[in-house]
Amino acid sequence: MNAPDRVIPIVAEPSLVVRASSWGGLFDCAMRWEGEQMLGIRKAAGLRAHLGTSVHASTAAYDLGRLPGGQPISVDDAASVFVDTLRNPGRDVDFGVDDLTLVEAERTGLALHTAYCYDLAPQFTFQSVEMTLSPLDIDCGGGTVVRLTGQMDRARVAETPAGPVIADVKTGTRVVVDGKASTRGRSPQLGTYQLLYEETAQQPSAGAQILALPTKGKAVALASEVFDARRVMVGVDGQPGLIDFAAQMFRAGLFPPNPSSNLCSQKYCARWATCNFHE
Ligand code: SF4
Repeated sequence: MNAPDRVIPIVAEPSLVVRASSWGGLFDCAMRWEGEQMLGIRKAAGLRAHLGTSVHASTAAYDLGRLPGGQPISVDDAASVFVDTLRNPGRDVDFGVDDLTLVEAERTGLALHTAYCYDLAPQFTFQSVEMTLSPLDIDCGGGTVVRLTGQMDRARVAETPAGPVIADVKTGTRVVVDGKASTRGRSPQLGTYQLLYEETAQQPSAGAQILALPTKGKAVALASEVFDARRVMVGVDGQPGLIDFAAQMFRAGLFPPNPSSNLCSQKYCARWATCNFHE
């Protein structure tokens, strides 16, 4: 395990503390990320996104019960976590923004929860669920230090013969493409998780994997192949990685827009009304 050059010993006063789980979004649209994470410009989630959050809660409850020393929980009891989360969001949810009713969301979510617990979870032995991570400081140059901290939201660490794999549960309408769990665009977040896992556990990871639960269409639970997301963050063969590009953004204080982002829409971006770069 080699820490990238920009990872430095923890400093007393970082310039900025950000949630590790948000870091991948920086490379989707940095301007949106700056709005959400640095300026506090937020938007209520839609029902389909909240459906995903609720499935994450129930599948995490189920997997926690399967950890060594955990309190096993039945598929049905874990399903009640889904229903409870869906009906009691505890945060702002815009129930009118998606082409989905609460009843449809409940039906879809229960089918996904069941598919996950019976079809996918038994294929894995997890070491941890939503692991708490040790802070990781990134030297951006010019005295700017960004600290990543928090939990590996929605991800598990799976034991495999090759070593620990970061398995990230993804919900959404595009998580399954051509009948396969899609890994497209997932490397920034999963690479960040691989790095942080390695710093926290002090051992190498063997890669990353997507556990896909599509919130539209047939309710299935599919695992992607294992892939190396870490190299995208740290770079290869003398080429810079995303962590170097991030350092430059923080040093310069410039966060470029990406109007080609899948999330560049009034529905998903809180900066839409004031952003000059979308169509
Ligand atoms: S409107 Fe599009 S380009 Fe502008 S900040 Fe949002 S996602 Fe980025």
